[in-house]
Amino acid sequence: MSQHVLIAGGGIVGCLTAMELASRGCQVTIVERNQIASQTSGESSWAGAGIMFPLLPWMYSEHVNTLTNRGAAQYQKICEHLLEETGIDPQMLKSGFLLLPNFDHSAALLWCEQYQAQVEEVHATDFGVRSPIEEKALWLPKVTQVRPPCLMHALRAWLEKNNVRLLEHTELMPLNTTSSKLTGWRTTAGELLEADRFIVTSGAWSFELLKEVASKLQIKPMRGQILLYKPERNPEAIIYREGFYLVPRRDGYLLAGSTLEDVGFNPSVTGHVRDEIHAKATALLPELASAPIIKHWSGLRPGTPANLPIIGPHPAIENLFLNTGHFRYGLTMGPASASLIAAMVCDEQPWTDPAPFALPR
Ligand SMILES: Cc1cc2nc3c(=O)[nH]c(=O)nc-3n(C[C@H](O)[C@H](O)[C@H](O)COP(=O)(O)OP(=O)(O)OC[C@H]3O[C@@H](n4cnc5c(N)ncnc54)[C@H](O)[C@@H]3O)c2cc1C
Repeated sequence: MSQHVLIAGGGIVGCLTAMELASRGCQVTIVERNQIASQTSGESSWAGAGIMFPLLPWMYSEHVNTLTNRGAAQYQKICEHLLEETGIDPQMLKSGFLLLPNFDHSAALLWCEQYQAQVEEVHATDFGVRSPIEEKALWLPKVTQVRPPCLMHALRAWLEKNNVRLLEHTELMPLNTTSSKLTGWRTTAGELLEADRFIVTSGAWSFELLKEVASKLQIKPMRGQILLYKPERNPEAIIYREGFYLVPRRDGYLLAGSTLEDVGFNPSVTGHVRDEIHAKATALLPELASAPIIKHWSGLRPGTPANLPIIGPHPAIENLFLNTGHFRYGLTMGPASASLIAAMVCDEQPWTDPAPFALPR
């Protein structure tokens, strides 16, 4: 009989993990305290920018690059499959990435050579961006984006269609056990949810759930705020300068962000950040000064040291697994991370050595 896997958290990581497991014939339940594909308490996946590229990848370890490169490469197929099966378009777009100074030029070119990423030296003014003429920018034409709310809606529809049980508006209690095997996980309503195997994909809240059984898990919320514009003219490329980006959507909207704030579990948005983002956006594209701001939101990223997620079994509880802590690039890493954990849960050979992603004992 197929094994029953319970997934704790229905963000991008939980949904892609469920998709992998359902495709392997497992019986899967996702437990989500709010609603999948919605934004209620700062869930990260809905809020993300959807850039399928880790902004400055040369700043990260090869393990981060392994996950982001493999994840990004899988999206076209995933988006086509989701559109075909659900009719919902995740709005993937090859918009390219314009990288403006300051950045480590030689490290960037070396990285592009090492990972065979197409790159050209360009002038930002050719892209309609305000920039000193002598400034040298890099253009990575193959970088893609997805629209996270659309991706999440498509995933939710796919999971429903493929018999994944979605237990929404159901909150799990923090785990507290001395046993070496879980038989069930209790909800805040007192129900014991039974399964053969359990996977934690609870994003920024993972440490709150696992404090008693994984004291070395280092995950904390890192807030990011974003503004959405409807300009008269949109740039064609994703534009990045020193921690700030503009992302043009297919339907003419433009997203600007984001921040990296260590403010605990506080998903509110603030006036001073709105002004800060608006000032940076208009410095790049002066015409944004008169464009209406349509929306302002935030998300709580699952922050981890060095951006390295934890993917693998719990060292002492034999049927408990973790797939969490994807920090700034969980949308990009999601597919690679999901297939890695699914292989471990199903006792298959994983596609890469999972050791760098193990939870410290
Ligand atoms: C502003 C911003 C911009 C970003 N831009 C990008 C980008 O361009 N590219 C990229 O790759 N990544 C980006 N990210 C990062 C990416 O969004 C995250 O890494 C990713 O969404 C993490 O996914 P997750 O499923 O682990 O977490 P989440 O989406 O937060 O999902 C965790 C889920 O667990 C549920 N949960 C928590 N506790 C419980 C409980 N007790 N019981 C039941 N359910 C529970 C929560 O409700 C939530 O739905 C961005 C993030 C932000 C905030």
